[in-house]
Amino acid sequence: MEISKINLLTEDVIGKISAGEVVERPASAVKELIDNSIDAGADSIEVEIQSSGQQLIRVADNGEGMALEDAKRAFLRHATSKISQIEDLEKIKTLGFRGEALASIAAVSRVDITTSTGTVNGGVYLYLESGEILKTRPAGRSRGTTIEVRNLFFNVPARLKFLKKESTELSEIVAVVGRFIISNPHIEFKLSHSGRCLLHAPLELNAVERIRLVMGGDFTDHMAEVDADSDDYALNGFVSHPAYTKRDKRGQVFFINGRYVRNKVLSEAVYLAYKSLLERGRYPSAVLFLTVPSSAIDVNVHPAKLEVKFTEENKIKEIVRRAVKEKFREIKTFIDNPAAETAMPEVNDIGASPAPDRFFETIADVQEVFTYDFPEGDAQQKTKEQVSCLPSENVYSGSGDKLFQISNCYIVKIMEDAVRVIDQHAAHERVLYESFSRMIRTKDVESQNMLFPVRLDLSAHESVLMEQVTEDFRRIGFNIEPFGERSFVIQSVPGILKEKDTRKIVCDVLSDLSSRDHDKNDLFDEFLKLTACRAAIKSGEALNDTEMSTLIGQLNSCELPFTCPHGRPTMIDIKLNELEKRFRRK
Ligand code: ADP
Ligand code: MG
Repeated sequence: MEISKINLLTEDVIGKISAGEVVERPASAVKELIDNSIDAGADSIEVEIQSSGQQLIRVADNGEGMALEDAKRAFLRHATSKISQIEDLEKIKTLGFRGEALASIAAVSRVDITTSTGTVNGGVYLYLESGEILKTRPAGRSRGTTIEVRNLFFNVPARLKFLKKESTELSEIVAVVGRFIISNPHIEFKLSHSGRCLLHAPLELNAVERIRLVMGGDFTDHMAEVDADSDDYALNGFVSHPAYTKRDKRGQVFFINGRYVRNKVLSEAVYLAYKSLLERGRYPSAVLFLTVPSSAIDVNVHPAKLEVKFTEENKIKEIVRRAVKEKFREIKTFIDNPAAETAMPEVNDIGASPAPDRFFETIADVQEVFTYDFPEGDAQQKTKEQVSCLPSENVYSGSGDKLFQISNCYIVKIMEDAVRVIDQHAAHERVLYESFSRMIRTKDVESQNMLFPVRLDLSAHESVLMEQVTEDFRRIGFNIEPFGERSFVIQSVPGILKEKDTRKIVCDVLSDLSSRDHDKNDLFDEFLKLTACRAAIKSGEALNDTEMSTLIGQLNSCELPFTCPHGRPTMIDIKLNELEKRFRRK
């Protein structure tokens, strides 16, 4: 008998595989549970988390609740009260409709649920493990539902291993709840972690106050309102001034018909509108609500419904781009009048005319030396002669101290027998990394007080991260003190960075931390590397002679000057014999 190589998967395996698509991590379970509470018509939702959601996620609402039979059914795969036929998808108004969330969550955890429709019969309590209902009994509860999810992924070791560091996970949960707070101004939200309240949005908090609570003061104080409609489409919300930009798109939050989505089309449209105003690699922040006819989008393209497809992509793009552009006069005033806004960090970098390219200026000077009047017919010979005697006559020859910068990116140093090209960013990264490491080793923290302490008004999820890393920052000379809820003050910085835009450095490090997967063993070293990276001179920065020679001096006194902390070279030598080879003299 032949043995088939194709197996039919058991229900248990199927369940766990598809659970992984819907519930990737604790934050996605939080999102699904809150979706359900909103769909149940709740106007008060409380979330309690322990160990960043890995131990407990509890969501309690005052929505319509479920009777016993429904409560049992709710945990079956493809069990939903929200659609019954395929046509319903086109006019879907609820956040859920696939009937997968509860089944998925229950398949990979231990669930307690108490729910009641508020009738005299009281409520019910169910306990499930790995998706199986193990207990049911009557329970007292006012109208609403409380779901407790414990030990998420306890039965999926592979997934458990890939969970991110707790602080990253917690900040993701804060971001998830924050988005609901912004998009549901008529619902009260509370989020606490091990008993400590992280976010509270009571009903009295209006839309802008909610944005301030979630996105922080730095964004809210530097945003412009957008408002546009055309045909059945409407767009409103806020975009940041170009001076308040981030190094990734995490500050961009889009809602389509009230649903939070990640959408390339929208972020591209925002980017296009700003384009000329942005530094390379920087992105504006935005909170935008787009209302479109349900027939214009497909929300059923992603298991967690985090992505949508537009039927008329270009139309959407154009509306967003135009709406943002219309605000440009307002946005630009900020740039033209940096003095009017002292808290603006990066204003000087924007709109400044590019620094003259010194390298090419110098080339032009040098060029004269190389212009010869060659006698006809003897050119080849003559060139050789002339050129070979150049070094002794030329001021740029020998191991002169003169340094050049190419393309605001590389420093060129002429040496006795080589041309040395130094990558300014990589070199400075090495210098900073060694300086930080030295402070750690010797415990001799070299820190300088800021003349004007810099205040950071962070978003809710950034401030969670900040609390986790203030000690790390302190060890390398950044003293950052909490200053009320979600605000921090940079009091002092490493002496080596005192001239730098410390706000930007600290904010960029936070962005990196929130988007990076951490190798748990080497977290602190990773932190040092990325702080060195964010604080280092960028490619594209024009440097004057003193800056160049200081950098080279610092690099020379490094222990490992030839590579940056990531292992890339900091310098390349083009040797004389390489030149001779290339000019085919040898
Ligand atoms: P979906 O939301 O796609 O319908 P879920 O698995 O998330 O699928 O939920 C299944 C069903 O359970 C929902 O359709 C709803 O009827 C019910 N349900 C889930 N959570 C709640 C809740 N908090 N309150 C009332 N009913 C709920
Ligand atoms: Mg749901």
